[in-house]
Amino acid sequence: MTTVILKKKIGHRVLNGHPWIFANEVQSVEGDATGGTIVEVVTYDKKFLGRGYINPKSQILVRLLTRNKQESIDDQFFYNRLLSAWQYRQQLGYVENCRLIFGEADFLPQLIIDKFNDYFVIQTLALGIDVWKPAIVDAINKIFKPKGIYERNDVPVRELEGLPQQKGFLSAPFNTFIQINENGLKFNVDIENGQKTGYFLDQQDNRRAIQHIVKGADVLGAFTYTGTFEIHAAAYGAKSVLGLDISELAVKQANDNAALNGVQDRCKFEAVNAFDVLKQWGKDGRQYDVVMLDPPSFTKTRDNIQKAITGYKEINLRGMKLVKPGGFLVTSSCTNLVQSDLFMEIIQMAAKDARRKLRQVCFQAQSADHPIINEWENTKYLKFLITQVV
Ligand code: SAH
Repeated sequence: MTTVILKKKIGHRVLNGHPWIFANEVQSVEGDATGGTIVEVVTYDKKFLGRGYINPKSQILVRLLTRNKQESIDDQFFYNRLLSAWQYRQQLGYVENCRLIFGEADFLPQLIIDKFNDYFVIQTLALGIDVWKPAIVDAINKIFKPKGIYERNDVPVRELEGLPQQKGFLSAPFNTFIQINENGLKFNVDIENGQKTGYFLDQQDNRRAIQHIVKGADVLGAFTYTGTFEIHAAAYGAKSVLGLDISELAVKQANDNAALNGVQDRCKFEAVNAFDVLKQWGKDGRQYDVVMLDPPSFTKTRDNIQKAITGYKEINLRGMKLVKPGGFLVTSSCTNLVQSDLFMEIIQMAAKDARRKLRQVCFQAQSADHPIINEWENTKYLKFLITQVV
């Protein structure tokens, strides 16, 4: 077994349980350090800290899989982790669709598994987890007897690990255009060509939160993707719903989803740039009872954080101006680079510029199938705010 010996002076982060070990925290490596190898991590005085996988190509040299000295990393280990993740989701009330594995927060760093009823979509985002793909697929087969498993590893972050971008079947081929139920509604999911794993499960609990404020309302939704929030709004009794997305394909799928739920007369979608359109409609004096925004992250790196701040402020300012006095703004942010406090500051700056007062209805995170470990910042990423705009 390869041993990774840490420096004497390391931060409390690792000692307190964080699974990442950076190269500059390591004193020496004894044994085989080939990328993907399972290693044992010890303190400078050789006390066992945990077992994990190493990749000398990555800035994060080791990611820990276990802190339990008795636990070895083998096929059974992955089976046990997947089973306990599934038991946890069931305990929380998820029966059909859920993020089954949310990486670090499920103690399986860089592994994502989304369960869409009988179909599973996998992302292995680091070399050390990628090598265990056969064991992971095997565990899914044993626990769920699924109708299909698909790999959506067409993600640039894999290149930092020396891995190629790829997608394809990990089971016998199947029709990757599937249908799921969420909150009593039906949605088509394009597993092969949809964004990320095909569907944003992280908003599934939040979509229910708009239930009361949309009744009888004229609703505008921007960044709608396949129309999930908007179709919920129509089903919850909105008078009219208009959804906007820059992607023609997303808008087509959103219109199809509206028809699938019989709300196509009250719920329409258009392919436009939300930044341009919201600005123009503000000038035209258009007003809505509810405006919903769910923009992309605007940046992937800390260096570009200002770009994200400007983006969020600008779109929320434009959105707020379209809300009737006493109406509601429903707004989200999906990057861990902007944490809750900063997000709230941005919303307040927008309110100040719009000369509006806000009264918070609710402030939530991602849905509970994406667990949060408070000290691990990358597990805290989604902010979901409903606020009255007075
Ligand atoms: N609300 C959706 C997820 C939205 S993801 C859901 O719950 O499923 C963000 C969406 O914003 C993507 O579909 C992307 O196509 C869209 N988008 C990105 N830039 C945009 C822009 N300038 N105008 C409109 N839509 C945009």
